[in-house]
Amino acid sequence: ESLVRPGADDLERAAEAALRPRRLGEFVGQRVVREQLSVVLQAARMRGRAPDHVLLSGPPGLGKTTLAMIIAAELGASLRVTSGPAIQHAGDLAAVLSSLEEGEVLFLDEIHRIARPAEELLYVAMEDFRVDVMVGKGAGASAIPLALPPFTVVGATTRAGLLPAPLRDRFGFTGHLDFYSSDELEQVLLRSAGLLDVQLAGAAASEIAGRSRGTPRIANRLLRRVRDWAQVRGDGRLTLAAARAALEVYEVDERGLDRLDRGVLAALCTRFGGGPVGLTTLAVAVGEEPETVETVAEPFLVREGLIGRTPRGRVALPAAWSHLGLTPPHDPGT
Ligand code: ADP
Repeated sequence: ESLVRPGADDLERAAEAALRPRRLGEFVGQRVVREQLSVVLQAARMRGRAPDHVLLSGPPGLGKTTLAMIIAAELGASLRVTSGPAIQHAGDLAAVLSSLEEGEVLFLDEIHRIARPAEELLYVAMEDFRVDVMVGKGAGASAIPLALPPFTVVGATTRAGLLPAPLRDRFGFTGHLDFYSSDELEQVLLRSAGLLDVQLAGAAASEIAGRSRGTPRIANRLLRRVRDWAQVRGDGRLTLAAARAALEVYEVDERGLDRLDRGVLAALCTRFGGGPVGLTTLAVAVGEEPETVETVAEPFLVREGLIGRTPRGRVALPAAWSHLGLTPPHDPGT
């Protein structure tokens, strides 16, 4: 199990919940989205009405769920949570919608994965605050329109481009979340350390931030592992030395790469001379499924400029060689 993967399981979610900022003012970074949201929310409060539907897009672990909770809290509204994958039939969505109360915030995580037949229902609900409840079956079936009280959908998606245009158009506001800078991650970490009641040295915060892939979820996760190490092997204080030792144990390197990432780079550079090599061949070389390599390791390696994708396969970029302390076999410049 890897510490630097974007997803979170149930145990993780419980640990995360404790560290979630509750109000907009506590939310670190994402200055643009924060300002935009703060205006949307204040305007809604002044009018005493539910705000427009909000779409949040961005990679996992950057704070979409947190912002949905904050939106509800700032509106003094209650939050209902569901997700695209949980809505496989129109009826699933109709049930949720018809139980909404006035002003509630409905958080739809992974909204791009909602089932097609439910999509249509969602359009109408978002636009006209109405849901057509189907009664009966077959030729005798009829739709009974049910008026819904005003509510706000907060949708989250890893990529806004994945949404069908008609759905995207029903959001009055779209906020794009970006990866966090090291400074911002340090702030996240210092705040979390305060909540966990541990002493985190500034240099340790900066060390952990640099290995967190621009992602608060990963930063908090690494912090918890460093805390474990400090408690068990150290003197409880989270010093720079403790952070380095702990992250070495967990095989997270200075750049945030883990064992699989480095395995992919090493295979690419040493077995295949830097490529190009096909995904399947590369996956076999590291003993993983092609899908794992493609969805788990590659996005970060590509983003970091370590590997490139070409029509003929994956290639190692100069940064990959230097990260492994290797020299490319021939310098294209000479
Ligand atoms: P997403 O829904 O985008 O996958 P989450 O909202 O679940 O991400 O965020 C993951 C964790 O990272 C949260 O539990 C929270 O503790 C932390 N986090 C995310 N964004 C911030 C932020 N801007 N400031 C402080 N902590 C954050």
